[in-house]
Amino acid sequence: MFYEHIKNERKLSEVEPTPSPKRSCPEIPFFGAPYPDATCIDGFLWDLDSCEGEEGFLTQGGETPCPFCNTKAFLQVYADRQGITKKEWLKEIERLRAKYS
Ligand SMILES: [Zn+2]
Repeated sequence: MFYEHIKNERKLSEVEPTPSPKRSCPEIPFFGAPYPDATCIDGFLWDLDSCEGEEGFLTQGGETPCPFCNTKAFLQVYADRQGITKKEWLKEIERLRAKYS
């Protein structure tokens, strides 16, 4: 039992992407726009199109964990949703990171 647990843990950490060393996350298309419309603030995604007024406060977002620096929390919400497995998400996250970094 105990060994089984360790084995599973190792498996998990092998597929998890390491957080980007610069701690800067790319802006990605997420809120429905064909261009990057999501930006990471403190580990959560905010909608750049929700910018209001000249001060530029973002009013939409803050609920979706950032897939790049908050990967675990992101997967807890999105893994196995719409038939997309955790593994597929991790691949997609790496693809997005490479494309938009
Ligand atoms: Zn982030």
